[in-house]
Amino acid sequence: MTKSLPEVRFLDLSIKNTQDRKDLKEVLERCMDHGEFVMGKEISRLEKSLSEYVSREYCKTVSSGTDALYLALKGIDVKSGDEVITSPLSWIATANAIHMVGAKPVFCDINDDLNLDPNSIEKVISKNTKALLTVDYTGNMAEYAPIMEIASKHNLKLVEDGSQAFGAIYMGKRCGYFGDVSAISHNPMKIFGGLGEIGSVFTDDEEIANKIEILRYNGTFNKEILKYPSLNFRADSLNAAFLQSRLKTLPKKLKRRAEIAERYTKSLKSVCITPKETKDSQRVFYTYTIQIKNRDALSNYLADNNIETKIQHPLLMSEQIPYSQCKANTKKASQIIKKVLCLPIHEGLSNEQVDYVIEKVINFQES
Ligand SMILES: *Cc1c(COP(=O)(O)O)cnc(C)c1O
Repeated sequence: MTKSLPEVRFLDLSIKNTQDRKDLKEVLERCMDHGEFVMGKEISRLEKSLSEYVSREYCKTVSSGTDALYLALKGIDVKSGDEVITSPLSWIATANAIHMVGAKPVFCDINDDLNLDPNSIEKVISKNTKALLTVDYTGNMAEYAPIMEIASKHNLKLVEDGSQAFGAIYMGKRCGYFGDVSAISHNPMKIFGGLGEIGSVFTDDEEIANKIEILRYNGTFNKEILKYPSLNFRADSLNAAFLQSRLKTLPKKLKRRAEIAERYTKSLKSVCITPKETKDSQRVFYTYTIQIKNRDALSNYLADNNIETKIQHPLLMSEQIPYSQCKANTKKASQIIKKVLCLPIHEGLSNEQVDYVIEKVINFQES
């Protein structure tokens, strides 16, 4: 009988018999006791903790990361006729949020760090440009020093999509600190995720914060007076409470992922392009994304060896049919996208599993 191969899954969201499971059960008990399942103290408590964590005046929790982006753009009054410059490499929610407020996404190029290339921004600025939307992609912070300079020079608003980098630090400040408004997803796949859909929006501007608060509940003020017709974007209080209880284990998760990344990088830096880190920053590892020539063949080879990988994303947002007519300057991005592959990096992996992945990647390159 042949020995069965070890299995390395890309992500395992089941909650085994751990402290986390105990904590979540306690949260459920507490919420059943008080019965506040919409808004209430669980939401206020989470918003307070998150605004302290990110050092921002205001945090508003919302129904998802996508909704957070949408409301962030609404909050700074991006609308029909406006253009928003963003990276072409992100989860499609980034471009969709721009589209859904009626504006046009405009795509600039990226660098080897998979983040927006600050030098490519000015080439696509027009008189209609209203805002820049940065993505802290894969967990690596965008280069905010030059980006903020460009934004201020051209009088553009800055929106940060920090969905993949919550917990990362740039020049001493955490992800979520950099936009006039910053939007973050806490869906269960993210490193700091709840038990369902939830997102958060951060700002220091009271007016923007108030507007978002009104927009997230049908555009009503005090639930009585309609200010701006809108939909319901409130987060579930139960989920907010679950998320709150996971804030204390976040540092441990980030640390374990960083250890795995270091282990990968040490052995793989000679066989492929390993993840980069922006200067003056401390990144997190939402994904461990390598760049390698025979990407598809490697992915198949790893699958044959019971190792699950993901291509995030097979298409640039600018290559998606509804956005294919948008202005784009994405030469480097179209090369890079053919080479990206995400290796498993969730905190539940053992060193043996990581070494097994390393061994197989090296075997593939040598064959
Ligand atoms: C996950 C993600 C989103 C969307 O968040 P949801 O909570 O899934 O709606 C937006 N942008 C980026 C970069 C993401 O990774």
